[in-house]
Amino acid sequence: MSERNEKAAGPFPGRVDRVRKSLPGWSAAGALFFGRPSIRYLTGFTGSEGTLFVGADGAALLVDGRYTTQAAEETTGIDVITCRDRQEGLVGFIGDRDLADLVFESAALTCDAYFGLRDALGGRVRLNPLGKELGGLRKIKEAQEIESIRRAAEIASGALMAVLETLGPGEREIDVARRLEREMESRGSEGPSFETIVVSGPKTALPHGRPGPVPMAAGGFVVIDFGAVVKGYASDETCTVALGTPSPEQATVYAVVKEAHDRAIERVREGTPCRAVDEEAREWIDRAGFGAFFTHGTGHGVGLEVHEPPRISTRDDGVLEEGMVVTVEPGVYIPGKFGVRIEDLVLVKKEGCEILSSVPKGLKILP
Ligand code: ZN
Ligand code: ZN
Repeated sequence: MSERNEKAAGPFPGRVDRVRKSLPGWSAAGALFFGRPSIRYLTGFTGSEGTLFVGADGAALLVDGRYTTQAAEETTGIDVITCRDRQEGLVGFIGDRDLADLVFESAALTCDAYFGLRDALGGRVRLNPLGKELGGLRKIKEAQEIESIRRAAEIASGALMAVLETLGPGEREIDVARRLEREMESRGSEGPSFETIVVSGPKTALPHGRPGPVPMAAGGFVVIDFGAVVKGYASDETCTVALGTPSPEQATVYAVVKEAHDRAIERVREGTPCRAVDEEAREWIDRAGFGAFFTHGTGHGVGLEVHEPPRISTRDDGVLEEGMVVTVEPGVYIPGKFGVRIEDLVLVKKEGCEILSSVPKGLKILP
């Protein structure tokens, strides 16, 4: 396409090559990427909007004028093309190259954008969605990615340990969340990896409750689900702590979830089916009589996105491979009463795994 393509494409040529080598299997002349994480992963471009084309003999990044300079600085070996309007630019680009069969990152395109593009191409180009295939692109992490996730996990765990030192009844959920985010930032996080969850009392029965201007009361649990970001990479960890002595029922549920978590982590190693890790945790919680209250999968992959493949769930047919980074996070949520979730971030190894998050998960009674 241009001279620049003589050089290896992108700061991560191996990644672009993997896409390129997959094109024949997808019967496609090229692949279109629209998602920010996949474009960042393949090219190093960190802007909020762009379209990446990967073809058999080159790659091109279409951006609007806001990002021309940034895209040229952050990428190498990739044609940077400026266009005023994404659809218009893409139609021109595809037409100029006479491309007839393309695959595209369907998960990252809105229905409106898809129909608009399809109509503008006027039937000359077949657009085949690639959901699952592209979803697996980032599953196995390279050493530098693992380093970033490891650092994010260290920052987040260190920040929570500092926050727990002074946590007690009376402080508002929202203030704890902000305090934790400030602690993470002062340790080098680029921002929270998702909206920090700090919920207390009966609200802990909501797996994804939002922190409110509510003072935390003694005698209940506090669930804190949080993560940091380093070089774009996320961490994810959840701690459940008790404010004051827990009731016998609370202590029982905590012990059940902790054991489910420990047993599931024991299963994490290369070759274990993702579903087997989920089943390990689920069977334990079932046997203890709380199966109906474990309402989500046991875990998920973490990387440039806080939720990405694989899923540690009965709905994932894959097996764990060395270099995957996944969470293990069983929970029990009893509506109107309380909930417990215990989540660690683990790196899959040939023999077992390494736990990257580091807040101790034994029941902590505060203050
Ligand atoms: Zn989490
Ligand atoms: Zn998680």
